[in-house]
Amino acid sequence: MLNSFYAKLSVLFLVLIVGVGVILATLGVRAARQYASEVEQKLNRTLAEEMVPRFEPHLKDRIDTEAIEATIQDMTGINRRIEIYLLERDGALKASFAVPDTQIEQRRVDLAPVQRFMEGGDLPIRGDDPMRAGTKTPFSAAHIEIMGRKGCYLYVLLGSEQYASVAGMVGESYILQTALWGLGLIVLVTAGVGLLLFRRLTQRLRGMQDVVADFEKGAFDRRMTVTSNDEIGRLGNCFNRMADNLEATMEELRQADRMRRELVANVSHDLRSPIASIQGYLETVHMKDGDLAPEERQRYVTTALQNTKRLNTLVSELFELSKLETKQIDPTLESFPIAELVQDVVMQYDPQAEEQGVGLEAELPERHVRVEADIGLVERALSNLIDNAIHYTPADGMVRVRLENEQGEVRVDVEDTGPGIPEDDLPHIFERFYRVDKSRDRDRGGAGLGLAIAKTILELHGSTLEVESTVGAGTTFRFWLPVKARAESRA
Ligand code: ADP
Repeated sequence: MLNSFYAKLSVLFLVLIVGVGVILATLGVRAARQYASEVEQKLNRTLAEEMVPRFEPHLKDRIDTEAIEATIQDMTGINRRIEIYLLERDGALKASFAVPDTQIEQRRVDLAPVQRFMEGGDLPIRGDDPMRAGTKTPFSAAHIEIMGRKGCYLYVLLGSEQYASVAGMVGESYILQTALWGLGLIVLVTAGVGLLLFRRLTQRLRGMQDVVADFEKGAFDRRMTVTSNDEIGRLGNCFNRMADNLEATMEELRQADRMRRELVANVSHDLRSPIASIQGYLETVHMKDGDLAPEERQRYVTTALQNTKRLNTLVSELFELSKLETKQIDPTLESFPIAELVQDVVMQYDPQAEEQGVGLEAELPERHVRVEADIGLVERALSNLIDNAIHYTPADGMVRVRLENEQGEVRVDVEDTGPGIPEDDLPHIFERFYRVDKSRDRDRGGAGLGLAIAKTILELHGSTLEVESTVGAGTTFRFWLPVKARAESRA
């Protein structure tokens, strides 16, 4: 039963509240008792003193008990409950009045409280009660002369019987009873309200528990309804955020898994066709070696060789991309003039452009600008973009590489007047193995990895690769590199 948080809280709370109630009641009754003693002792402070002149005449030669008892009878009106004792100078009991002698349990009274009383100490002061050994009772006391011996004591116990027991006191006091009832009621109401509040609180926790249990069973879209900003509300928010993250991570994992499968499928496909083709040509050459005309044999071998090159490119590109993606290649940043690099790459591609009848041009307005990047990797990215631009642009078209200074960065544009890329394909062209025209591009040897490599390289530099394209008009690829400040470059 105590498995439930609510039960534990409730039991603890009830024990606490009942404990507090009992402590309060005890303290209250004790205080009331103390207060009653104090008031009574204050009211009767001089009682003993007032009695002395009335008693002393009957104590001249002997203790005239009868006469004294009669005097006490006379004084009953003053206080009905008093008990009167005569004490020797050392506190020994000499005589008692209004008390049956047989009931006396203690025949000596401690004088310390008596002296404190007579010196005017703070009230209440309690003294020994001869009839009830061990109990302390408020009293009044004064010096009295007994048979010519001065310095003896008249010791008057006040209302000792009245407050002998707490139960008796409560039983007699209307105010105490009312107060105790009130206290009981407060304890009850507090307990009731507390239990209700705990119930509400734990209900929210139970709701959360249900959500977590559902989540555990696979309902990943379950979220907590958060209605407050307290600890429970914050816990709910934390859970919701954690669930969002988990869901996103799972989606990413699923996506990564899908991509891995696609990659394996693509790689196997791209590997299989050149290998099959190589095998076919080589088998033909091998079997019909004698029957083949030399030109024919030359053609077969050349085709096999081309396919080997394709395979080589594909495998190296895959290897390069995987190294970039797994961050095995760390860009070594250095400062270099970007215009010179562009110029170099453009020159490398001049023959290819010429062969295809495509114009290739570099616009380099600011030759001195130095960027901070890995020169080898940037060259690779730029080559891929220029290679694509020349490749996809038909004869008489134009490819332009342009540099532009933009607030601390250099923008590099590779622009062509090619066929453009359809809008639907644009978001995918940076994916591995993605080709717009699947059948045609494969023949030229492109594996669909060039843009993925370029983009990864730029991302490693904290930059991005963007594309803008209009079908029929042309395509522009664009990236940015940070400019190296002049002062630093000199240092
Ligand atoms: P590929 O090796 O096939 O060129 P890329 O990753 O370099 O692979 O390019 C992906 C696809 O994007 C290409 O197959 C092509 O369809 C398209 N593409 C890339 N650059 C251009 C361009 N300049 N003009 C038109 N299409 C392009």
